[in-house]
Amino acid sequence: MAYRSRALWAEVDLSALRHNISVLKRTVYPAQLAVVVKANGYGHGATQIARQASELGVSFFCVATVEEGIELKDADIKGEVIVLMEPEREYIEEALAKDLTLTIYNARTLVEVVASWQRLARGSKSTSSPKIHIKVDTGMHRLGVSEEEALELARLARDSGVSVGGLSSHLAVADAGELGRGYTLEQIARFERVVARLATINIRPSLLHLANTAGGVAYPSARYDLVRSGIGVYGYLPSQEINLVGLRPVMSLKSRVSFVRRLKAGEAVSYGLRRPLASASFIATVPIGYADGLRRTLFDRGQEVLIKGERVPIAGTVTMDQIMIDCGDVEVAQGEEVVLLGRQGANVVTALEWAEALETIPYEVLTSIAARVPRIYI
Ligand code: PLP
Repeated sequence: MAYRSRALWAEVDLSALRHNISVLKRTVYPAQLAVVVKANGYGHGATQIARQASELGVSFFCVATVEEGIELKDADIKGEVIVLMEPEREYIEEALAKDLTLTIYNARTLVEVVASWQRLARGSKSTSSPKIHIKVDTGMHRLGVSEEEALELARLARDSGVSVGGLSSHLAVADAGELGRGYTLEQIARFERVVARLATINIRPSLLHLANTAGGVAYPSARYDLVRSGIGVYGYLPSQEINLVGLRPVMSLKSRVSFVRRLKAGEAVSYGLRRPLASASFIATVPIGYADGLRRTLFDRGQEVLIKGERVPIAGTVTMDQIMIDCGDVEVAQGEEVVLLGRQGANVVTALEWAEALETIPYEVLTSIAARVPRIYI
């Protein structure tokens, strides 16, 4: 297997990905699935994920930045690419030239979009009308305009000859089970009010989208035209409150033993010699460290890895590029496969297991796998 000079790679299981996309498409139907591929496809590789999704009929993709959108366009991914954050002014023209859909929540940005569009049209680089979606704040309070401001923005767009292609918002607690139900229903109601107010001035955006994975699964009334799903596509639930069976983790993280030695009881390994061995052990070195996304805290939390089908613990402080694992009596050799995330034999380690150990969420674990770890598509 080609993984460059060291034996460490993230395996991206495209059949699991295709399975998850089918499950989610079916779940949100008749709404369409917009696959969220920001942050390099949650660490899985944005263009490869988008290409697979596109082959399964997905025609909407969400990214955070213009650069991420351009990456998809340059890879010739077909479909609409929605940039979820407004770009800095100097990137608007490029975004329009690449036919990216821009999310707008500042009048100043809209004015810039119109000016850039007119400049492009004069230079005949692009004549098609800008694609814009207005973002309304229904309660997440991160980005988005108020109901009144949404009307003003929509009028401004119309007066400038730009049609409002979409209206969006984002749910704050759709993953919180019963605790979040009242607030989520209120967010849906606020969204509906904006849609209704826009209709009174004859503005009917053709794409309404509010839900993430949690919202799309748990709140049928939040699905509208598009459900923007990220974490579900990659095989994890947004939280344990969300009931959707059958998703399969897409990413595994694998390596091979680079060095082995037998140490005696009482000896200890790595910086700080922090955990003396209770008995003689085979200690194997594995070329993955914190610079690859394996956080130092995982040693303190007793995180295990898989080797020869067994769960064995990290033996000492995680270093920048390497860890040592305590294989006990299991005799291992250089080259033996080690699974950090994924399945080996009957055992499995998931990003949720790491997330729980690290008191975070699978999203952070997946997006923390460093760029220097090659992604292998199987
Ligand atoms: N929509 C927006 C605006 C987001 O910021 C995100 C992710 O952070 C998503 C959708 C996808 O959320 P999830 O991965 O929970 O499906």
